[in-house]
Amino acid sequence: MSETMIDILTVALIVGAIGAVIGFILAISSKIFHVEVDPRYDLILEALPGFNCGACGYAGCSGMAEGLINGEADVTTCTPGTALTYAKVKAILNGEDPDKVTVDEKKEKTTKKPARKKPEIKDVTNSDPRFEKIVKLLPGINCTTCGEPGCKAFADALIKGKKTTDDCRPLNKKQEQKDEINKLLNQ
Ligand code: SF4
Ligand code: SF4
Repeated sequence: MSETMIDILTVALIVGAIGAVIGFILAISSKIFHVEVDPRYDLILEALPGFNCGACGYAGCSGMAEGLINGEADVTTCTPGTALTYAKVKAILNGEDPDKVTVDEKKEKTTKKPARKKPEIKDVTNSDPRFEKIVKLLPGINCTTCGEPGCKAFADALIKGKKTTDDCRPLNKKQEQKDEINKLLNQ
């Protein structure tokens, strides 16, 4: 065997050995630092509306999901949530299948909403021809987390340049509508 071949084989063996050692260290580290995630977390996150609006008092739905698992949160403080949302979350917390949960329409309409103080919603109007279009494109949940007393007031603030579409957190889940509103605002 030539000297060059021996050199190549030596380098290949060294690289292989280093790779094996790194792989071993990573495998051990993942065992040592492994954090157990409650299997209900993802299910709850999926059952929540996903607006990340903060109306429940948490910075987003993930905070609410953690709060629910820790027994600190009350799902009915999720303003955009419905009776079905609440029932699904309850089922998950009880170790039941959320897909088997059904809620009759009547109950859905009469479900008690959040314990938090009901936000004041103002029926704002604006003569700008873009106003109604923007109102229709907004999430319409009147969560008030944008700091305005409802979606109509927010549309008015957008037209007056007092707010930007980034101030409506639930709108981040609706990129198409957000783009459409920004297009209208730039006209
Ligand atoms: S209130 Fe908003 S942030 Fe809180 S869980 Fe419901 S959708 Fe998510
Ligand atoms: S415009 Fe304001 S009130 Fe309406 S959904 Fe967005 S954050 Fe909530």
